[in-house]
Amino acid sequence: MWRSLSAAAGLRRAAAAGLLGAPSRRHLSATPIAAAAAAAAATHRALVVGEASPAGGVSLATRAAVTAAHEFTTAPVSLLLTGNGEKLASTVAEAVRLEHVADVLIADDPSLSPALAETVSPVIAGLVGPAAGVDGGAYTHVVAGASSFGKNVLPRLAGALGVGALTDITAVVSADTAVRPIYAGNVLATVRATDDVKVVTVRATAFAPAPDRGADGDAAPTTSVPIDGAADGAAPPPAVRVVSEELTGGGGRPELAAAKVVVSGGRGLKSGANFALLTELADALGGAVGATRAAVDAGFVPNDLQVGQTGKVVAPDVYIAVGLSGAIQHLAGMKDSKAIVAVNKDPEAPIFSVADYGVVADLFDVVPKMTAAAKATKAAKEAA
Ligand code: FAD
Repeated sequence: MWRSLSAAAGLRRAAAAGLLGAPSRRHLSATPIAAAAAAAAATHRALVVGEASPAGGVSLATRAAVTAAHEFTTAPVSLLLTGNGEKLASTVAEAVRLEHVADVLIADDPSLSPALAETVSPVIAGLVGPAAGVDGGAYTHVVAGASSFGKNVLPRLAGALGVGALTDITAVVSADTAVRPIYAGNVLATVRATDDVKVVTVRATAFAPAPDRGADGDAAPTTSVPIDGAADGAAPPPAVRVVSEELTGGGGRPELAAAKVVVSGGRGLKSGANFALLTELADALGGAVGATRAAVDAGFVPNDLQVGQTGKVVAPDVYIAVGLSGAIQHLAGMKDSKAIVAVNKDPEAPIFSVADYGVVADLFDVVPKMTAAAKATKAAKEAA
């Protein structure tokens, strides 16, 4: 169960401020954790459900989840890693050196790779559910990044435990209360979770990634988590199985959610082939490529590039929005970017209301010039 404390008041304030339909650039600042939370820390323990980044190692979303979990409990956290093989091993090697991590739990089994909610959530439930003596038991908080992995696994876990899921939080207020955006980010709701176990996903861009401990810090101890039936192959087959997995090539570009520069395109690009204009600009700037849902739906680019309410949430140093209108659902995924540059031939396009720099022009004229300028700057830096 969860209770919304201030969404109604927030809505009234947002309407009065004209925010609905004209989203704010900045979130309200998070209330810092009160000293009272520290007193309660002894009774709170968090389990972070971690995941590997595509290249191996702890993902940025997991590092953010560690920070949030530590803010909830003001105590060191346990980090669970599930999977198999070399990728799991490299993630564990990094995880044991993370700040705020007291111990790393390892569930190593071929059935857990690739990760499915159907196979991973029972492992977590075994650690926090009734079997683990949840009444006064092991963990009071289960936290993961609001990535595809976290959004898949944790709601299923919450269902299995019979508790509410507090999703996509952007700030921690106290051990049972957090802030989450609603209405595509136009209102920030302060929500209290009243269940014994709080199941939470965390917006990665809203929390600082937990840093490494440094060379002289001790590595956290590891513990193996037994998987039911793993030894004798007696585990029941999951209802879902992975038939094949195909990783979309990033072209050596940084991960969209972690990139410092994102160049996003919309329907104005007119075709998938024209997205080459944006990949060239992104490569010259060392950035990633994103897209609107309209561009994805039109088949211009794969859906893992989608930015927005139903896509990825990004907050890079620079977001370059090209040939996209700035629909409210797109703004929900990028409006916290530090600087926004918009290229659109329509001076009335809503994207200009959030842009720091706007170019009213035909993208097919302007983008090649931006790319040439970026390449020239890069070459000059390399020559210096
Ligand atoms: P358009 O709105 O068609 O804009 C195209 C723009 O390109 C126009 O502003 C036009 O002036 C400009 N343009 C055209 N030609 C040129 C040119 N030659 N040079 C310069 N500019 C040019 N959308 C998302 O992006 N992400 C989401 O996660 C998302 N989730 C959604 C969830 C729900 C429940 C719903 C209902 C919608 C969602 N949408 C989402 C869709 C959203 O409402 C918009 O339809 C979509 O973002 C529009 O995409 P666009 O800006 O590419 O297209």
